[in-house]
Amino acid sequence: RFITFEGGEGTGKSTQIKKLAGRLSAARLRILVTREPGGSPGAEIMRHLVLSGMGKLLGPEAETLLFAAARDDHVHTVIEPALKQGVWVLCDRFADSTRAYQGSLGSVPAGLINAMQRVTIGDLKPDLTFILDLPVEIGLARAAARRGSSTPDRFEGEKLAFHQGLREAYRKISVDDPARCVLIDANSDPDTVAGRVWAALRERLLP
Ligand code: C5P
Repeated sequence: RFITFEGGEGTGKSTQIKKLAGRLSAARLRILVTREPGGSPGAEIMRHLVLSGMGKLLGPEAETLLFAAARDDHVHTVIEPALKQGVWVLCDRFADSTRAYQGSLGSVPAGLINAMQRVTIGDLKPDLTFILDLPVEIGLARAAARRGSSTPDRFEGEKLAFHQGLREAYRKISVDDPARCVLIDANSDPDTVAGRVWAALRERLLP
């Protein structure tokens, strides 16, 4: 099974992945936790390039192609081999991030994004995608608290409108593909949110 987590900054994706991984391991399932951009040695180098600010030297299309190169490596060297062995793959961000960040907000043409997805992921589709939904102010406050004094994330200093647009883009994705996506109310304590995630997963994927 292939499960992805999506959402804006500070929505708690990595916390929820850890909690779900714990539950699935306790159910004696073999699992692999991974992330994008990154997830394979080569793709982690590209993640560093993009997030260190070097991505700003690139235009939006070139940056999207760098994300595509990272995804191609991650899918072919990590995700697909694991799925073939019957491992459950939990991935922090995947193709919906590209549609939301580069497509809806980065104004990269849909044609380029579709072509990139065809090459990198082909027919691979998550069985289930959790979209963590949270009021923007709360997510940004959480992200700032977590960051402490470390370097700001690329987008976190930008205006609220960007993050509001991101939230809307994700909500639209969940409405457009309800068979795959579950919108999770992430505005509660982590264990309550984990309970929502687990209930949805049991209903959809566990017998
Ligand atoms: O996974 P995480 O939330 O740490 O993402 C790292 C950063 O990469 C985020 O700040 C996000 O804005 C950015 N990102 C992006 N385009 C993607 C995926 C992530 O700009 N397709």
